[in-house]
Amino acid sequence: MTKPVAIVTGGCRGIGLATVKAFLASGYEVVAADAAPAAVEGALVQACDVADFAQVEAMAAQVTARFGRIDVLINNAGIGSSGSFYTAPLENWHRVIGVNLTGAFHCARACAPVMKAGGGGAIVNISSTRALMSEPDTEPYAASKGGLLALTHALAVTLGPDSIRVNAICPGWIDTTGGTWSEADRKQHPAGRVGVPEDIARACLFLADPANSFITGQHLAVDGGMTVKMIYV
Ligand code: NDP
Repeated sequence: MTKPVAIVTGGCRGIGLATVKAFLASGYEVVAADAAPAAVEGALVQACDVADFAQVEAMAAQVTARFGRIDVLINNAGIGSSGSFYTAPLENWHRVIGVNLTGAFHCARACAPVMKAGGGGAIVNISSTRALMSEPDTEPYAASKGGLLALTHALAVTLGPDSIRVNAICPGWIDTTGGTWSEADRKQHPAGRVGVPEDIARACLFLADPANSFITGQHLAVDGGMTVKMIYV
């Protein structure tokens, strides 16, 4: 039987790499599309800057030529932002929006026609709890992740008739370094620990699973409960 095909952007590191491994273990053919490609055992690695639509189109065409279908797209590639709101170069804004938000739009635009031709599929956008709450001086990142939530519901409505579901995940603090954390770091989470990439990978598998065909246009916070914790001081 033909295996389903999943593309994970930013799939060579961090949350993306864990997601690639989880889909491989679940019987998918997996493509890791990354701006800094590095070998991932069992996966097809494609060099691709998601901010550049020509590169995204070429990546989707290569995946289609190789496997003949695309079933799942995980829009995970993302970069952070830093610097003062008052003084940071405007280029920071454009690059963060270009990768985190426009990049996801590019990938959906290039992959959805192939999903549609194959009878449907699932897109999962990796947003952030920073779409919902903020620290100072995080405007480009917060706006890009908030935009992803709006893109998620818009695409869910547009692509529903083509049997393509679109959902988002809002990760909280996910340790991609394998570090150890203080008791205070752990205990500020109602769940009692900092997150790990596999927490997000499992949520991606759940949202991509065709058995969950009644879930579309939603976002799921995977944050150990941080965004529901009331803070008075
Ligand atoms: P990492 O920086 O560890 O990995 C991101 C991957 O995406 C890297 O391989 C990176 O390549 C790649 N990438 C960056 N820019 C592009 C691009 N333009 N085109 C293609 N690939 C690109 O990030 P995380 O694993 O921590 O985060 C993954 C996603 O989860 C991001 O969208 C992030 O915003 C989101 N997130 C993460 C949280 C966390 O606590 N870790 C919390 C909330 C959300 P390179 O090596 O070149 O940078």
